Amino acid sequence: MAWSLLIKNGSVVDGSGAPAAAADVAVEGDRIAAVGRGLSGEAARVIDATGLMVTPGFIDIHSHTDLFYHACPAAESKVRQGVTTEVVGMCSFSPAPVAPGGAEAVKAWAAGIGSRLVITWQTFAQYMDHLRGLGPSVNIVHFVGQGALRLAGMGAENRPPAPRERKDMERLLAEALEAGAFGFSTGLVYPPSLYASTEELVALAKSMAKRGGLYFSHIRGEAATLEDAIKEAIRIGEDGGVPVQIAHIKAAGRENWGKMDRALRLVDEARARGLDVTADVYPYHAASTKMDNLLPAWTHDGGIAKLLERLHDGAARRRIVDECSVDGERWKTASGTVGWDEILVATCSRPELAGTNLAQLARDTGMAPAEVMLDLLRDEQAQVSMVVFSQSEDNVVKALAHPHVMIGSDSLGLSAGPGPHPGKPHPRMYGTFPRVLGRYVRERKLLSWETAVNKMTGMPAAKLRLKDRGLVRPGLAADLAVFDPATVLDLATFVDPHRHPVGIPYVVVNGQVVVDGPRYNAAPAGRVLTPP
Ligand SMILES: [Zn+2]
Repeated sequence: MAWSLLIKNGSVVDGSGAPAAAADVAVEGDRIAAVGRGLSGEAARVIDATGLMVTPGFIDIHSHTDLFYHACPAAESKVRQGVTTEVVGMCSFSPAPVAPGGAEAVKAWAAGIGSRLVITWQTFAQYMDHLRGLGPSVNIVHFVGQGALRLAGMGAENRPPAPRERKDMERLLAEALEAGAFGFSTGLVYPPSLYASTEELVALAKSMAKRGGLYFSHIRGEAATLEDAIKEAIRIGEDGGVPVQIAHIKAAGRENWGKMDRALRLVDEARARGLDVTADVYPYHAASTKMDNLLPAWTHDGGIAKLLERLHDGAARRRIVDECSVDGERWKTASGTVGWDEILVATCSRPELAGTNLAQLARDTGMAPAEVMLDLLRDEQAQVSMVVFSQSEDNVVKALAHPHVMIGSDSLGLSAGPGPHPGKPHPRMYGTFPRVLGRYVRERKLLSWETAVNKMTGMPAAKLRLKDRGLVRPGLAADLAVFDPATVLDLATFVDPHRHPVGIPYVVVNGQVVVDGPRYNAAPAGRVLTPP
């Protein structure tokens, strides 16, 4: 036999949850050709994996790199973690569809997390062509954002859709599915997604049920209303007839930390009734999102221009402070109450602010923290992202250990060093998968290697119904990660986030060695995947 690549002497953890087994893995072109002990044959390239684990490439079940492929198609911070497939179009955001004249609204929205999109498309199909043309190094599974559907179908208004607008949104969803979307996502704390009623979302889900579409939900509240929000997502799945994924499951705000057990039990109960509902989690007790998410929902009504008007208006600012300020020290948000010292500026146009918390900024300027935040959002045109320490480590552990929770980074693929994303973003962009392996498997023994790898590979592949990925089996796509179980570890921290992990010497995407020891081969190895 002659193969293009032979990975010899590794311990194969095949992604199914089955025990690790010593085996060689042969690759021909973009497929796994053989898996077995002592494979003998010619290979153009041989990698000696003695002492290393050979696993399917990781599937990041919740990612936002769709807002960044144009700047960094290599998605280096992801692939260096072992990620070979990313699921994007999450939390109601997707760069398409775009209504005629609607590009500015979509750009402003993407800019909130530091993206500078240049929009040259309108339909989802045109956008998918654009994405293929970028030559990403990672495989892409795309969802369409329900916020994007609403923006394109009826604008940013806070009201129910007229019957014709509802039909338009269903047509746009059908077009997206036809073009390769796997389903739709909501972000029910983000306008305009949050303006949709449960009933509107059930109808949208019903319209895609026959086509096998999936519903991925950033739910309507991860804090005080956590349980109701999970029930709503489950109801949309049950009444709409579609599988459900609960994104980045968490209980935000210390007053809500006790709700996590019940939240996970709701998932178990719905599964027992027959719903395909699962969840994902990132292994950190801090979240990251747009800073304008600290403001009450009404401030976003009418879109970004209206928001900026309100940030200039003294009466509106007083109303915001009256509604949200708890005692001058804490701030009430849709994600629970947070202390000013728990909110860090991640990115904005002023790099010197990155990594500084709002309590510190307030002390530095002699202003009240709320005024500092409102001024920053006003001066930066709401284009500020933040890191918020709102969760408990115990709950992160509970989610990681749950049998139906997989791993999703909720992050962007970036390049380390000087690049398009300055500032201090959440370290999960560089560290999610090696952090689970190094800290929660090797150090804390919370999970076995096989279970952790299953949560990163076979489990998400099954959820997405990807028949040829997520396992190390002959005939499947040659997406592989090779890591050292003795050393794999994340190095990115909140203070120093732009650091690649250690202990992952090889990552293979569709048969191409993209991570090759210290070298990063930013080849267009990835594919834009389509649903079965
Ligand atoms: Zn989200």
